[in-house]
Amino acid sequence: MAIVPPTRILLGPGPSNVHPRVLRALSMPLIGHLDPAFIALMEETKHLLRATFRTANALTLPISATASAGMEACLVNLLEPGETAIICVNGVFGTRMVDIAERCGASVVLVEAPWGHVIEPEAVERALRDAGQAKVVALVHAETSTGAWQPLEEIARLVRAADALFVVDAVTSLGGCPVLVDQWMIDACYSGTQKCLSGPPGLSPLTFGPRAVEALRRRRSKVQSWYLDLSMIERYWGEERVYHHTAPISMNYALLEALRLIEEEGLEARWARHERHHQALKAGLAAIGIGLHAEKGHQLWTLNSIRIPDGVDDAAVRSALLELFGLEIGGGLGPLKGQVWRLGLMGESSTEANVLLALSALERVLPRCGYALNAGAAVEAAARRLAGA
Ligand code: PLP
Repeated sequence: MAIVPPTRILLGPGPSNVHPRVLRALSMPLIGHLDPAFIALMEETKHLLRATFRTANALTLPISATASAGMEACLVNLLEPGETAIICVNGVFGTRMVDIAERCGASVVLVEAPWGHVIEPEAVERALRDAGQAKVVALVHAETSTGAWQPLEEIARLVRAADALFVVDAVTSLGGCPVLVDQWMIDACYSGTQKCLSGPPGLSPLTFGPRAVEALRRRRSKVQSWYLDLSMIERYWGEERVYHHTAPISMNYALLEALRLIEEEGLEARWARHERHHQALKAGLAAIGIGLHAEKGHQLWTLNSIRIPDGVDDAAVRSALLELFGLEIGGGLGPLKGQVWRLGLMGESSTEANVLLALSALERVLPRCGYALNAGAAVEAAARRLAGA
């Protein structure tokens, strides 16, 4: 029997919906991973990834695994045992970075902020002053667990002045809001295919700048992970084409097609589309008395963490949305479990129709779950916002 999954509108924290052209790319015939035709596709992928990351970094490629592997690749390649890593934690993914850095044998210094808030530059400055020479400062640009959007430029200047390497998680931002790797002095950055790039999960685009590459060349010890050792992976993705692992051919077709779609749309237009739909959703929710969890002024366009109204059953609402509307949204993670829903408007999922559908579905489901609202108000407010009123 053929596998026929249900049709879903993916408005969770990822994966997002993918364009039919990406699905078609996945079904194209396999070729060998050293076939000249595949090598041509690899070159185009690197070129388009550089454009998407806004970087000239030569070492820019997709790691053959999900975004956690991009995170791990950055940290295992840049950290050696005994070195200091300053890691900023204001949600699940900063916590994951800490775990990885500790497994590298690094001495980890935490800079924390409440979940939903951003990391203040002064806190990083203090940590840089107190920690001695830090090798790495790492943080999450778009915290998918809280919806907080971290400003980077000021922290980047502090990190550079302290001669440390700046590592940034752009998993939920790349392709949905500005990620300017060169301009913002980011030394190492990674993302995932399944969010604002709108590919299937399974690859992790990564870029290493000249200072990160130099740190890699100067290592005294072998990279702890064989699979993620960039000095070997770059020889496969670079001129030498030395076999390292068998590249996931179909996934790379899908990524390339997704990147071509981004190029056709234009990055700026794509960012504007994400902003517009986020603002419309927010206006619609506000009209029925529902707010976002992340602090004002730092709310992501790509991932909305929505405060669950008092007394409303988190899981009941999500199940009803899925069953009645085929619409997936996410629940909260860790301390935010039961307190927020996570509604992603990423990549192909960030559409006017999806904003209006999500709001009208909530207007339908919430009253059954004990939340009284003025029916039609959310959709009306969002539609007005979309019309520019
Ligand atoms: N970093 C952030 C900010 C994420 O949102 C995620 C996944 O949601 C990851 C890292 C890990 O990605 P993956 O689940 O693809 O390994």
